[in-house]
Amino acid sequence: MTDPMALVPPDLLERVLRGWRDLSPRLVPLGRDRPEGEQGIFVNPPATRGSTVLFSSVGAMEQAGHGRYGDELIYGAMGTPIGHRLEQAIATIEGGTHAQLVPSGLAACALPFLAYAKAGEHCLLADSVYGPTRRFAEKVLRRFGVEITYFPPTATEAELRGLIQPNTRIIFAESPGSHSFEVQDVPMLGRLAAQIGARLIVDNTWGIGLFSPFQHGAHASVQALSKYPSGHSDLILGAVTVASEADWRPLRDAAIQAGQVAGPDDCALTLRGLRTMGVRQMQQAATALAVALWLEGRPEVARVLHPALPSCPGHEYWKRDFTGASSLFGVVFDAAFTTEDMVAMIDGLSLFGIGASWGGYESLVLPTTGGISRQCPSVTQAGPTCRLHIGLEAAEALVADLARGLDGMSAARHGHGPA
Ligand SMILES: *Cc1c(COP(=O)(O)O)cnc(C)c1O
Repeated sequence: MTDPMALVPPDLLERVLRGWRDLSPRLVPLGRDRPEGEQGIFVNPPATRGSTVLFSSVGAMEQAGHGRYGDELIYGAMGTPIGHRLEQAIATIEGGTHAQLVPSGLAACALPFLAYAKAGEHCLLADSVYGPTRRFAEKVLRRFGVEITYFPPTATEAELRGLIQPNTRIIFAESPGSHSFEVQDVPMLGRLAAQIGARLIVDNTWGIGLFSPFQHGAHASVQALSKYPSGHSDLILGAVTVASEADWRPLRDAAIQAGQVAGPDDCALTLRGLRTMGVRQMQQAATALAVALWLEGRPEVARVLHPALPSCPGHEYWKRDFTGASSLFGVVFDAAFTTEDMVAMIDGLSLFGIGASWGGYESLVLPTTGGISRQCPSVTQAGPTCRLHIGLEAAEALVADLARGLDGMSAARHGHGPA
């Protein structure tokens, strides 16, 4: 088999990698001090563990409480030095001014609602949000009297206007959407939110470093740091970034009031993982593009949902608003195949782990048929679907593994038994 990288047009590859190339050198010194005077510093800031902070006097303790809002060192539950460094790093990558760490990506999805919504208000959520974000809206927000409507991720401005109510206070987008990968017109959502005095929240986990939420009208950006930033599938962590004092104070207050604290070891590991995120992604995104293009040429595949390819809904917004692509995409199989055919194929793969939390260094596959809830009619459902996360393995090896699986799937369907 020829190297699948040969399928990738050089200009498209450059387009997909540009953002990572720009980001890569910026990641190295983030959240680190320069050495001062004669004293050197370690490359990696230490993980500071602690609950109690001691002061020389009651006056000094009171003084410490009046530092930069959010950086006070007075109690472990208010944050730690290593956490503040990571917050600074994430805020810089996202183009915001302040970030708040929370113990998971899901907690980061929930925090803006806790900060900005109240009973009797209405929130619009993209129909393709991360499943547990939807579950939080259904099981928690509704119980506290917050009204929820889901909008089609491909909705036009006119369609969205039809869903807005006088009490709409939050629009929550995730672009591209979980599993179905619709890239959203976030600038349009930003204009709409500004017009009605609502806040636009964006889950920017897929697009970290490639999409600037605050340049497109977002008030808060959500990150699951468990994914590409930590990068090694060994921790769970999240962050919310904002770009104004008006958005920062309620966010920080809600985090403290709800006891949202990040563990220092997870912060240190994430800061370490961040250093290599650019170079990992240059490799992983290039391989992902090659695998996606190769899959497009297979007869078993009806559609590849990769934002850098024209067949992905909202591809034009990706071209306009993103500086690159990451290594997670969807595959829709031909309707001739059943979910059981796909599952048997997946079970037979040897280089793809079967698992959910992506963003690490190894390739993953996850069946998505039947596992996602949508209220609005989905534009992407034909045959069975799965999601691929491409890791650091060579494209040639991944494609050989997939070729064996797909050949077997075709042969079984056509009654000849696996090839
Ligand atoms: C994984 C994920 C989350 C949740 O992150 P956890 O750290 O696993 O809680 C939120 N949003 C998106 C888009 C994700 O992919």
